Amino acid sequence: MNNNFDSDNIDSGAAGGLLIIDLDALQDNYRRLCAEAKPARTAAIVKADAYGIGAAQAAPALYKAGCRLFFVAQLIEALQLKPLLSPDATIAILNDIHPGMETTTADAGFIPVLNSLSSIEAWGDLCRKRREKLPAMLQIDTGMCRLGLDIKEIKQLVADPEIFNLADIYYILSHLACSDDSANNMNYTQLITLKKLLKKLPTAHVSFANSAAVYLGKDYRFDLVRPGIALYGIDPHGQTPSRLQPVVQLKARVIQTRSVPAGLKIGYGGTFLTKYPTQIATLAVGYADGWHRSLGNRGAAYFAGRRLPIIGRISMDSMMLDITTLGRKGPQRGDLVELIGPNQMLEDIARDADTIPYEILTSFGHRYERRYIQSE
Ligand SMILES: *Cc1c(COP(=O)(O)O)cnc(C)c1O
Repeated sequence: MNNNFDSDNIDSGAAGGLLIIDLDALQDNYRRLCAEAKPARTAAIVKADAYGIGAAQAAPALYKAGCRLFFVAQLIEALQLKPLLSPDATIAILNDIHPGMETTTADAGFIPVLNSLSSIEAWGDLCRKRREKLPAMLQIDTGMCRLGLDIKEIKQLVADPEIFNLADIYYILSHLACSDDSANNMNYTQLITLKKLLKKLPTAHVSFANSAAVYLGKDYRFDLVRPGIALYGIDPHGQTPSRLQPVVQLKARVIQTRSVPAGLKIGYGGTFLTKYPTQIATLAVGYADGWHRSLGNRGAAYFAGRRLPIIGRISMDSMMLDITTLGRKGPQRGDLVELIGPNQMLEDIARDADTIPYEILTSFGHRYERRYIQSE
């Protein structure tokens, strides 16, 4: 992480929290994934506002790093992203086309991931009508039961593969259910299923791997890999040291400090009882900012390298820390404390909140001051 940006007085002072997003690290992670995946091509998943860090900043940075294929989940995300990228970038939509949105999708030049026979038929009809091989991807389900053609539908597609003539099928996709667990047999089972099904279908390029599967080995990479979380700095197998660079830092502002005696209840519901005379700092970050309520009486912040436990429930706009241990060196009103940074990684927060880094990232609220670091 760039330590030039660690100083505490770089923000405007208007926001309760400062979210620092390192686009250099994002680009570096993209390049690392490309190197790992080679000769497979590397797309970038920028759905959900680029996992909460800001697609408007992340996608152009990834483009600069060489990425030309971007995946979002929904048409609305594709429409928002399109004006921010050069015309030679391609946007694909994971969640298929909602019925009736075929024309909008085709006119914008987006590539839908067709997940059902009915959307395949609708796209085929449009291709016929326009006498144009419109680009599309096809997803087949190999064991996750979420999206894509199931076995029965694949059989029908095998019997009638006309879409391969009507449309320009860029990739056949499938998605792994357990790739974050490299020891899970499900990975190999899905791989074998995919290979069997591919033999029956017309030849096409193939995409199987999300971030975690990039690191499952060459067999899983096929022609195109689709990393998301790894771009944003999370090692998908939790390997330490991480094979990726952290992208996000978060600091929260102290808005009040106070001394309370032993035996007082702290915060909503009085869920924390002070056991000794306690120095408390109240921070201007709460669950409305995506700091999960499950972190109440769990988790911590850091100041001057010291761990300061969160006490009491998380409020909408604030939370409390026990800063007694720092004595007179504790944070003062106006100071920033570290919530995510060198001392406490996103993975640590996710563990304390009983969730996954994906959910912490995509929960970031909209009133942080956002500072983007980019040297190029
Ligand atoms: C979100 C998503 C990805 C990216 O997954 P990560 O685990 O973040 O790398 C890839 N493929 C599909 C179909 C997805 O929905």
